[in-house]
Amino acid sequence: MNDRPFIQFLGTGAGDCLELSPPNAADAKKIADKYPGGRSFRHAPSLFISPDIIVDLIGRAQMQAYGIPEEAVRHLLITHAHDDHFQPLAILDATSGLPHPWTVYGNTTVAHAMDFASTHRWDPSEGRFEWIEKPREISVQTVGPGQTFTVGASTVTALSAKHMIDVERMIQQEQVLNYVIERGGKTLFYGLDSSYMLPESMEVLSAFQFDIAVFDATFGHLEIDPGKSGHQNFRMLDTTIAEFREANLFKQDAVIVADHISYYEVEPYEEIVEELAGKGIVLAYDGMRLEF
Ligand SMILES: [Zn+2]
Ligand SMILES: [Zn+2]
Repeated sequence: MNDRPFIQFLGTGAGDCLELSPPNAADAKKIADKYPGGRSFRHAPSLFISPDIIVDLIGRAQMQAYGIPEEAVRHLLITHAHDDHFQPLAILDATSGLPHPWTVYGNTTVAHAMDFASTHRWDPSEGRFEWIEKPREISVQTVGPGQTFTVGASTVTALSAKHMIDVERMIQQEQVLNYVIERGGKTLFYGLDSSYMLPESMEVLSAFQFDIAVFDATFGHLEIDPGKSGHQNFRMLDTTIAEFREANLFKQDAVIVADHISYYEVEPYEEIVEELAGKGIVLAYDGMRLEF
């Protein structure tokens, strides 16, 4: 591993990636036949920011796949409590036995879920929860939109995503977060999961210029209703990127990344990578590493 600072995508899938742990060899073969080539096989969305931050994580297997030891990580930023981004028990398992507990940063739902999972046990025979005698060790910090805080050597700003909002009834079911991460003069936008940007988030973003911007491109060429969806397709992605350009949010050589790609709705990597590249967009794949 060279020692220049970098980010690495530990997973680039969408919610349907959770169906990808094939329970048997026949299913594994079916998947391999449909999606040949390693770059279409997408696991749960997760990003490692060297040397010690991970954004979203559902298990240590994805860290192990890229040789990232648990003891190297100290900070876990969580975007929201969907199970393709966040699984409290798996996080507790990954940190158990470490000399230092990780600090988990997230919205109130994430913070409560972490607290609950570290203090309760489910008893399936009784069908009820009970206390764990000794709470499992984890450090949790609640963060909210507009807040800026220090994470290791980085400065992080949280902002609101358009995700988990019932538009017709105006119910924001959870305050889903996107993050701006600044370190050593470089700035990263991590915009999963989100549909079109909220106006208050564009206001927060106006203070930054990005070296790397990671956007939601879940549905590819599939037509979707932007009102109903908390995600983007390629057409919406183009609109969001145009808005970022209009607001002068990209540095000159900014790397613009399409991420959170549905495994079932979007064509294999090889069939779309050129089309996106033609628009100046890098199609993410599991394991992709960028200098940061
Ligand atoms: Zn997701
Ligand atoms: Zn989600």
